[in-house]
Amino acid sequence: MVSRVIPVDDFDLVIFGGTGDLARRKILPGLFRRFRSGQMPENARIIGAARSDLDDAAYRKDIKAAIVEFTAEEARPAGDLKAFLERLHYVKVDALGTDGWSALKKLVRKDVVQAFYFSVAPSLFGAIAERLHSNKIAGERARIVVEKPFGRDLESAKALNKTLRDHFDESQIYRIDHYLGKETVQNLMAVRFGNMLFEPLWNAQYVDHVQITVAETVGVDGRGAYYDKSGAMRDMVQNHLMQLLCLIAMEPPSRFDPDAVRDEKLKVIRALEPMEREDVVRGQYTGNEDTKSFVEEADNPDSLTESFIALKIAISNWRWAGVPFYLRTGKRMKARQSEISVIFKDAPHSIFGQDVEHHRNILSIRLQPNEGITLGVTIKEPGPGGMRLVDVPLDMTFAEALGPDAEDVPDAYERLIMDVIRGNQTLFMRGDEVEAAWAWTDPIINGWRDRSDRPKPYEIGSTGPEDAAVLLHKAGRRWREIKA
Ligand code: NAP
Repeated sequence: MVSRVIPVDDFDLVIFGGTGDLARRKILPGLFRRFRSGQMPENARIIGAARSDLDDAAYRKDIKAAIVEFTAEEARPAGDLKAFLERLHYVKVDALGTDGWSALKKLVRKDVVQAFYFSVAPSLFGAIAERLHSNKIAGERARIVVEKPFGRDLESAKALNKTLRDHFDESQIYRIDHYLGKETVQNLMAVRFGNMLFEPLWNAQYVDHVQITVAETVGVDGRGAYYDKSGAMRDMVQNHLMQLLCLIAMEPPSRFDPDAVRDEKLKVIRALEPMEREDVVRGQYTGNEDTKSFVEEADNPDSLTESFIALKIAISNWRWAGVPFYLRTGKRMKARQSEISVIFKDAPHSIFGQDVEHHRNILSIRLQPNEGITLGVTIKEPGPGGMRLVDVPLDMTFAEALGPDAEDVPDAYERLIMDVIRGNQTLFMRGDEVEAAWAWTDPIINGWRDRSDRPKPYEIGSTGPEDAAVLLHKAGRRWREIKA
């Protein structure tokens, strides 16, 4: 197989929160995979930064354990792991104090790409940006990577944008949304804009509606207190589902470059109609003998926070007038499944008569499990018995279509980190996009708060509250199946 790995410039990557869950579970195992693929330059280094009292050796030991835990055995040969760990360093730094900043300054090189990953609580983002600047650590080639959540409403997002921009230029700020780093999400753009086949049909004349589902089986155990202050709207819709909606709904950008793509996404967000109350269904999972309810996990019997939400969204522009976008996401659902489906309209006239069942064309983009794209096409059922129609999927599951190459597909985090090193912001949210998404979300959330709206109960392992199904039923539609 010809290697398609594109080398990147030499870099120092500083991970604030380098001992935390995200760093151990996603960032460092992902970097190890990029290292193994040969993408990490010879002198590139990764520097963990946190308050724990560690030295390089102790940090390497900790990260070795993390990589062993989160990487399949055959994908971590001892020699490679040892060589990777030698790239790791550690500095004890307090984001809110003065400790460690001069040591960090001494360690970080100024003449290479500097990437500072803020994998810490959002309350620390501003303090770290300010200290990187005031301690003159960040050089000309510095970038900062900011994790979610980016604010909890428009006001806090604006304040955070201002703080970050006081110290860094917008071109240096990478607001990460790992959904945008998924192979299939980029493939969605390839399918839309790399083929003649779909784009002419991609509008209100041919599309009946769009569905976006992100169903999780996990609950909020372990982070109930945080989630109780957030909820599905803030935690999932304002960022991840909104980004997916934008990629489906946006106009073709003139180029695949950061501002061209983000300008088009921003136009979509600004074209979202304000929500009507009857177009939103919120849910909260109840418990059973094996599993705690949401309010128990959140340790708040009076919680009005939603662990599930379904929405019917309208986009006011020529392309999408009258085409509903149905979004739903929830925890403790029937199966883990993320999928975008474009449901096309019925053929305008059946030449086969009323008795022949027709199927709609559905383009389905699966993010998990088994990333891939399927197009449902109607054909004749083979054999005798007259004209009977059947729906068959044209399946573009990557693992099958691309063979061994598909196994080399980078995980979202590693791809996005390499984009940061390359200085490519295309798959990162711009400040105005995030603010526009909050401007649309805020009135909905404020409405619930003002009315003390109670989410509808739903059972663990279900597809959410019954009202979510009704949201589509009343328009003669139904949700795509969530398969256990
Ligand atoms: P975490 O496990 O609680 O880790 C927090 C990290 O921050 C630790 O390394 C901690 O180390 C460090 N830290 C805390 N206070 C500090 C201070 N004053 N100065 C320097 N370092 C400090 O959190 P996480 O789950 O990794 O999440 C990190 C960020 O990623 C959060 O913004 C979260 O919302 C976001 N995120 C996480 C996930 C996930 O799956 N975990 C997914 C999406 C987004 P010390 O205690 O040693 O200082």
